[in-house]
Amino acid sequence: MTDLQKRGDRSPVPTDWTYAPAPESTDIVRLQERYGLYVGGEWLETKDQFTTIAPRDESPLAEVGQASEADVQNAVAAAREAFKSWSKLPATERAKYLFRIARILAERSREFAVLESLNGGKPIKESRDVDLPLAAAHFFYYAGWADKLEYAYPNRSPKPLGVAGQIIPWNFPLLMLAWKIAPALACGNTVVLKPAETTPLTALLFADVCRQAEVPPGVVNIVTGDGSTGAHLVRSEGIGKVAFTGSTEVGKAIQRELAGRDISLTLELGGKAANIVFEDCALDQAVEGIVNGIYFNQGHVCCAGSRLLVQESIHDQLVRKLKRRMSTLRVGDPLDKNTDVGAINSKAQLDRITELVQAGTDEGAELYQPPCRLPEKGWWFAPTVFTNVAQSHRIAQEEIFGPVLSVLTFRTPDEAVEKANNTMYGLSAGIWTEKGSRILWMADRLRAGVVWGNTFNRFDPASPFGGYKESGFGREGGRHGLEAYLRFE
Ligand code: ADP
Repeated sequence: MTDLQKRGDRSPVPTDWTYAPAPESTDIVRLQERYGLYVGGEWLETKDQFTTIAPRDESPLAEVGQASEADVQNAVAAAREAFKSWSKLPATERAKYLFRIARILAERSREFAVLESLNGGKPIKESRDVDLPLAAAHFFYYAGWADKLEYAYPNRSPKPLGVAGQIIPWNFPLLMLAWKIAPALACGNTVVLKPAETTPLTALLFADVCRQAEVPPGVVNIVTGDGSTGAHLVRSEGIGKVAFTGSTEVGKAIQRELAGRDISLTLELGGKAANIVFEDCALDQAVEGIVNGIYFNQGHVCCAGSRLLVQESIHDQLVRKLKRRMSTLRVGDPLDKNTDVGAINSKAQLDRITELVQAGTDEGAELYQPPCRLPEKGWWFAPTVFTNVAQSHRIAQEEIFGPVLSVLTFRTPDEAVEKANNTMYGLSAGIWTEKGSRILWMADRLRAGVVWGNTFNRFDPASPFGGYKESGFGREGGRHGLEAYLRFE
């Protein structure tokens, strides 16, 4: 008899039936041995290269260019040149290019999804069902706005900012590219985008989409490289806008760098979201939301529900259900269609997660991981939950960016609000309760840019996303997302 059965819990107990492997074929992806930079509609060689690898088995995938300061200047110059005519195109013409990109992304979605999972480590079912449809939807959505800016901002004469320098992270490589490029182009800007060093391949494939859509040369430029390439882009004289998504530390450095310069800035940084569960909620539904909130994309999600705040009266029951649900998660090959939790994106990230989890144990929290066999090669971390967590613990304060949940309790709604807001971040939150009025009461008091009610990690291009406090400023998505790429006369 298992522990659960002994406790008289009658819900089905996970069996050890295994799934047959269901690998997605990688044949659809045609990788080049070596990639240059996509600048002015052409592929340019760089002096230095680095190898990009597959987190699932550490195998090399391709050589990618490390853009130098001169390479970045070159890309900015190409974008400035293209801005002259792109910004003067009739808005309906700009929209046509965006619609084309959206359609091509939808048509080539399997190729992109496989490449995203190969290079980033996320489960294919997530790249296929979340990243790709949402990326295409962003281009469709902002294509619709391109010729309606005058209506969005009546009597304010919206104008583009010029060249947007855009720096994105590795957790949603193509989706973050779409969040950045779609509104920028819709508003008449041109872009130089730098993908993260561990996940450059879908951005480079996107360059091919631009070629296919006949986007005029220089409107979209992709420069690859590490943080130094990003820093060159931020320092560049020729840009009018910086849009950054990544760590709070780098976001602060960028803000310092831009102080005193007339450059528009938006920052989307870290998070430590509270997922707040009241005793009157639909408990099984909440368990699904908690699992989705923290184990989706291995927890490599800035808005992940990494702090579970549960009403004390249901703590034991909820934790029991949660552990049982965790034991059904399938961890393994990102390219297997049954995989729920894929590979950790990089060795550096795995080390960071491991260090923080060790700190959780050292500080006295209680760790649980369901038994699961992790592949030998590649980088993996089992889904983890910590109970007995105090607010002062590092695992309750610091962003782990991995599949690690910290459980805290509360008794009253006021206490829930106070604990949820007890963080330097303010990106997102979730509330689980049967009472709609309580959701509204809580949402009013939570310092979080996005508040989900009885759901979590829901995204829509029409809905603005962004943070308070050290989670950054500015909004992406929706009509609000246009403002980041416009100036008003
Ligand atoms: P993470 O810690 O999650 O990798 P980072 O903030 O380091 O997040 O990285 C996000 C993006 O910012 C990446 O594309 C990275 O190359 C870039 N980056 C890192 N350091 C700098 C910097 N000093 N200036 C500009 N971009 C940077």
